[in-house]
Amino acid sequence: MAILGIMSAMHEELAAVLDAMPGKQRVGVAGRDFWVGHWQGQEVVAVLSRIGKVAAATTATALIERFGVDRLVFTGVAGGVGPGVRVGDVVLADSFVQHDMDASPLFARHEVPLYGRSRFDTHAELSRGLAAAAQQVLSQLGTHVGPQAVAEFGLHAPRLHMGLIASGDRFVSSAAECQTLQQALPEALAVEMEGAAVAQVCADYGVPFAALRTISDRADDDAHADFSRFVREVASRYSLAILSAWRLV
Ligand code: SAH
Repeated sequence: MAILGIMSAMHEELAAVLDAMPGKQRVGVAGRDFWVGHWQGQEVVAVLSRIGKVAAATTATALIERFGVDRLVFTGVAGGVGPGVRVGDVVLADSFVQHDMDASPLFARHEVPLYGRSRFDTHAELSRGLAAAAQQVLSQLGTHVGPQAVAEFGLHAPRLHMGLIASGDRFVSSAAECQTLQQALPEALAVEMEGAAVAQVCADYGVPFAALRTISDRADDDAHADFSRFVREVASRYSLAILSAWRLV
């Protein structure tokens, strides 16, 4: 039977998922707690990804090697870098790039050495299902997020975007850095710290992968403002609602 891996970037998101997994068992591997159980009748293993590319790659590898997951979904938050990608929007990755990968002049900028490419795609069919769930949740925002949070974070008609997400081992929190990133990767919609690593591990093992990020900031000088409140009040509500509405095929 298929086993789904759920990687959450934030404690609050994972807690919300675990609440909906009665009878789950904790298994400790590599200093991480993996939670084995069921999610809506499907066998799942849920785990905190940990922050940064290496930590997330270790978590993804353990999910595949030790727990035999044969598809993987990632949820977390990200900084919006593409035009019109606003706080409260959701970005579904169709591919990932490591914005801090640079082995030039030996290899082209962003190319992962010995892979012959810089982009790692997500799984089209898994992503389509997740997009439908996200669309549904965003259209009923008020059911999932309280009116105070809607007002505080200015969540007005949040949108779903699909495209390239850039990952790297930096929390991008200045307008200047964000601009440099936009210039280097004009099609990047969002920036975060784990996705490209997980996408690469999944490509290595041939495991279908889908990833979804709620935009928590604009990767500019205000990027740190109210981060934890946003994760608690908005992003973790979205993640739970989207995963619950997701119909796996
Ligand atoms: N205070 C948090 C740490 C967050 S680190 C904690 O204690 O858990 C930032 C996380 O949010 C990473 O998982 C990263 O993927 C994502 N992220 C959100 N906005 C980002 C930005 N502007 N730049 C890089 N990563 C960002």
